[in-house]
Amino acid sequence: MFAKRMESIGGSGVRKMFNLIASMENPINLSIGQAHYDAPPAVKQAAIEAIEAGHNRYTVTEGIPELREATLASLDQHFGYLPESILMTTGVSGGLLLAFLALVDVGDEVLVPDPYFVMYTNVAAIAGGQVRYYDLYPKQPGGNWRPDLAEIEASLTDKTKVILINSPGNPTGSVWSALDLDALVDLCKTRGIWILSDEIYSHFTYDQDYVSVIPAMRHYDRILSMGGFSKTYGIPGWRLGWTVGPEACLDAMQILQQYTYVCCPTPLQEGAVAAFDVDMGGRATEYRAKRDLVYERLKDHFDLCPSEGSFYAFPSIPKGWEEEEFVQACIQSRVLIVPGSAFSRRGTHFRLSFAADDDTLELGLNLLVEIAEQKA
Ligand code: PLP
Repeated sequence: MFAKRMESIGGSGVRKMFNLIASMENPINLSIGQAHYDAPPAVKQAAIEAIEAGHNRYTVTEGIPELREATLASLDQHFGYLPESILMTTGVSGGLLLAFLALVDVGDEVLVPDPYFVMYTNVAAIAGGQVRYYDLYPKQPGGNWRPDLAEIEASLTDKTKVILINSPGNPTGSVWSALDLDALVDLCKTRGIWILSDEIYSHFTYDQDYVSVIPAMRHYDRILSMGGFSKTYGIPGWRLGWTVGPEACLDAMQILQQYTYVCCPTPLQEGAVAAFDVDMGGRATEYRAKRDLVYERLKDHFDLCPSEGSFYAFPSIPKGWEEEEFVQACIQSRVLIVPGSAFSRRGTHFRLSFAADDDTLELGLNLLVEIAEQKA
């Protein structure tokens, strides 16, 4: 009855949590993949004014010039390189679909990290790609989620078309080092492989300056970098992001956008222009403190490392528990987390989002420790 492709596309485990939350009274929700704060007033006001001014029609497919220019200028300022071209997309999600459709032929291999953000494997499948994985799991207790460049190299075949990287990572909270990034670019350059870098959490990097793949565009032309407004500015419902990279690839993505998303929401593009005048540094500092709190409270009861970025931690399921049993025990205590198998071939960890107010976070962490102690 349905198209064959539906056999390889599963429903999102994170979305299942959304449905569960809707049916629960007062959940202690540590499952959410969005900031716990609302959009800055100036950004909301700019969008309201755009609606009032009648800016409610289609825009050009690539996005309004003011927003494209402001985004490029900001990237240039942060990373010291002006990307060749930019396409505004309906979130990074929209950019991912367009990029995969533009680059991946049926049977091409796409290398994604394990653990991964849930869209990667499914969007690769929509495009007809074969998903292969490179492992990020720590090599020892308390270790970090690091790519192993030798393993990545060994995973490449003649069919590898794209490698996906995500730093800071969802769900791991890990950040790629400049050294690893350089090594990956060199490797991909020798093999002609596209790098697709999802940088949506770049604002939430806690222990170092953010290292983007953008400067490497200077010497390698098969790189796409994606970013967005959803997480930083608390506007995931606005569906706004961007892809930067070589003009020819972005032209192809733009053609696909004409027949899919058409354009990003018009008044919201105008609202997002105002975002570049808002300093969100305070929010990153606030989230760093939450990151510290999570690590301090959980480290004696769960195997985990401090998150270097994003607003997730990815601790192990505590000793003596199976994944499903642990998640059910959490739900019974009204604590919502996401089982690691939603993001991985393994079911040994769980994702905790610390994008929550401090009271909720404290309560949730205490309950998680209590649950872990039941079998300690
Ligand atoms: N990439 C990652 C790693 C994410 O975690 C998310 C959202 O959870 C997205 C992309 C999607 O972002 P957007 O709202 O820009 O589509």
